[in-house]
Amino acid sequence: MKRSELVEAVYTCGACGYCRFGCPVYQRIGFERVSVRGRMQVFKKLLEGKLDFDSCKDELVEAIYLCAGCENCTVECPTGIEFSPICEALREDLVNKGLLPENLHPVRDTLIKESNPFGESRDTRGAWIPKQHVPPQPSKYLYFVSCTAAFSLNRIARSVVKILDDIGFQFTILGNEEECCGSPLLRLGEMEAAKEMIRKNVEKFDKYGVETIFTACAGCYRTLSHYYPEDFKVLHITQLFDKLIKEGKLVFDKEFPKKVLYFDGCDLGRHMDIYEEPRNILRAIPGLELVELDYNREKTVCCGGPLMGSFPDLASNIAAQVVTEASEKGVELILTPCATCLLNFKSGAGVAKVQIDVQDIPMFLPKFIKKQEKPKPPEG
Ligand code: SF4
Ligand code: SF4
Repeated sequence: MKRSELVEAVYTCGACGYCRFGCPVYQRIGFERVSVRGRMQVFKKLLEGKLDFDSCKDELVEAIYLCAGCENCTVECPTGIEFSPICEALREDLVNKGLLPENLHPVRDTLIKESNPFGESRDTRGAWIPKQHVPPQPSKYLYFVSCTAAFSLNRIARSVVKILDDIGFQFTILGNEEECCGSPLLRLGEMEAAKEMIRKNVEKFDKYGVETIFTACAGCYRTLSHYYPEDFKVLHITQLFDKLIKEGKLVFDKEFPKKVLYFDGCDLGRHMDIYEEPRNILRAIPGLELVELDYNREKTVCCGGPLMGSFPDLASNIAAQVVTEASEKGVELILTPCATCLLNFKSGAGVAKVQIDVQDIPMFLPKFIKKQEKPKPPEG
């Protein structure tokens, strides 16, 4: 973002305060300085020389990192101010000034060294992969696994592989050659390090002749779609499954007669406008009753997941609010398109003291899939 765009946003803001309505951070903290309106007022004073940066540096840095990047404020803003890219650009500026908050240094360092935020060795990224997919092969389709599915929630990755293998869908997996997509570094403002990850991934996509990349991680999907060259088609796994259902290649024949909430994770929903494909998949399961939050689709309040690393208590308190509403509506299972939402909802359920199951869509599906008939052996 250019300085002129920030100046334009600052002077476009009419200070109406609608941006506060769906902001998960403002709703929990309640101080004007963490609303977009409050930040715009501060930026205005800085631009006009009425406030000295050094005098408010610590509060300003905290306010810039106290944003989940969920874009709910943009949906509410009558003038359409996009705060999320402003925030991203400001974080890059802070990083360049050496002002990345101290508590984020360990995760930044581990991302750069091991290409994942969990502190695991990059040499074990592909350790979960079934042997029929090792080593990577030239292929038109690539399953981009993500750090969370590779290191923390293998069940997501195993489910994706099982579902697609069972219907004979051909694809490859990079294994240890996959890098983090770059999303966590982009969120920190570490643009140069993120660009290097992107460059390395693109090199591998080219090496294996990849044309279409699919991923079950909403954050990877958004990053691959927005920050990577347009040479590759990118699909979220829910788009691929929805397509396979419509083609009759993926069929569900087991019932699930329970109330289920599909949660519109921001990276897939508000950022990428994908709302119906995940719901179409769940509508294809016999007996499943879909429940909606009062604020759903583009109005969904963020789960707080992007703040898990920097403000973990705040993140789980935000999730607790969603989990409580779901529970009050009789929901027995929350399904997410994003492992970060899943992890944060589990933590929020603990805070809210609510018994509720939370799963990612691919984890949930295998037991409902109709078994494929094996082709009959040739006669004679
Ligand atoms: S992007 Fe989300 S968390 Fe950040 S200010 Fe807007 S509504 Fe609040
Ligand atoms: S909703 Fe938009 S115009 Fe109104 S205060 Fe917030 S950023 Fe400014």
